[in-house]
Amino acid sequence: MRERATRKLVLDKQRLAALEPGGAADRPIEVSSSAVIPVRARSQRCPLCGGSLLLDEETATMIDGKSLRTAHLTCQQCGVRRELWFRIGSPLPN
Ligand SMILES: [Zn+2]
Repeated sequence: MRERATRKLVLDKQRLAALEPGGAADRPIEVSSSAVIPVRARSQRCPLCGGSLLLDEETATMIDGKSLRTAHLTCQQCGVRRELWFRIGSPLPN
């Protein structure tokens, strides 16, 4: 029973994390250059335990004609895997 509750909590946290900027392909974090990605990725914390994340690899994807980068991260503490989405582009002047 308790195990099931913990499992649900983990799923909730993962769902919440996906709603944050960079948590999904349709809400990438805008960066000015790809050099920023490892820095930004490592500054994130594990959504489940707050541990620091390790950058496994970075991949490039094209979605709707936009070039996106995905940082694949693993939590050093609990081992959960997380993907963080980025879009490279010069920020538009407001
Ligand atoms: Zn963790």
